[in-house]
Amino acid sequence: MKNIAILGSTGSIGTKALKIIENNSDMRAVALSCGRNIKLLEEQIRRFKPYIVSCERKEDADCLRASVKDIDCKVTYGMEGLIECATYDKADMVLTAVVGMMGILPTIEAIKHKKTIALANKETLVTAGQIIMPLAKDYGVSILPVDSEHSAIFQSLQGIGDNKIFKILLTASGGPFRTYTKEQLENVTLKDALKHPNWAMGKKVTIDSSTMVNKGLEVMEAKWLFNVPLSDIRVVIHPESILHSAIELDDGAIIGQMGIPDMALPIQYAFTYPERREGITDRLDLFKVGKLTFFEPDLDLFKGLRLAFKAAECGDNMPTVFNAANEEAVKLFIDEKIKYLEILDIIENAMENVKTNNADSLDKILSTQNETIEYINSRWK
Ligand code: MN
Repeated sequence: MKNIAILGSTGSIGTKALKIIENNSDMRAVALSCGRNIKLLEEQIRRFKPYIVSCERKEDADCLRASVKDIDCKVTYGMEGLIECATYDKADMVLTAVVGMMGILPTIEAIKHKKTIALANKETLVTAGQIIMPLAKDYGVSILPVDSEHSAIFQSLQGIGDNKIFKILLTASGGPFRTYTKEQLENVTLKDALKHPNWAMGKKVTIDSSTMVNKGLEVMEAKWLFNVPLSDIRVVIHPESILHSAIELDDGAIIGQMGIPDMALPIQYAFTYPERREGITDRLDLFKVGKLTFFEPDLDLFKGLRLAFKAAECGDNMPTVFNAANEEAVKLFIDEKIKYLEILDIIENAMENVKTNNADSLDKILSTQNETIEYINSRWK
């Protein structure tokens, strides 16, 4: 039996993970956590009978506790609750599918409790890769990527033995505005940005995909996961989202993983690794796909990607500034307080103004996050 704790069980990754668990009789969801969607969490408690659940706020926890009092399930809340789920003794594996930097601390605690990590939270490695990777090594814990691109790279690596990676080819759909001009980008509305051509995802990730900030975060994530220098990671625009990423080897061979654009396979692969099983979605039909196309990204147009490479090159706490500024800016955009391209101006401005530090502790990373938020609030709210 594989006992899994899911942090972020009501989101798009979490709900899909539960479908996979439901389809595999040797998997069990032992702990679940959500933000504020306690209605769905209650349904999940009734269906999956976890031992423990956690939500963001105390008042929601009190309410939920009352409504599931007929079931033997502990209800907790807040960061403490999230950590309790992440370190729950019956869990073998923790799927971290929460959005944002609040994923860092539960991941650290889960590693210290020797849980295998199925990593779907990008911010953890982007901001704290320098702490997480050595920690996982010390505790002998595997970090299995769930992000589709990183899963594809991980899958491609399985057959190469001790050979080293020559280049990582990180594919990107290019989002809905791939063919836009600068002028068209000026006028993008919230509604436009929330429509992704290939992937159904949460709001924040959808907007991050449209600005390509998401790809920038994935570049940083790949650097940590696969221990490659930034200069060996190449972003390749591939609008069909069929090749989920690839590696290039010294002899010129390119090995990649293809599939339909659906998170079910990467999630399931993390759950069953190294085993392969029949999945819950359609199979890829190459005859229906017909052709695949690839383009070089335009870094003038996609300033989000350019800034991400800059932040990654600076290292230290700059990726945290980049990420925190983006989180705040996207919130402002969702609240329709700023225009679309201002998201990138805010990131650039924060990168120029927030104090730098070497980000060698969680305290420093979190204080950089706070400083970035304060800086943005003082100017844009
Ligand atoms: Mn991705």
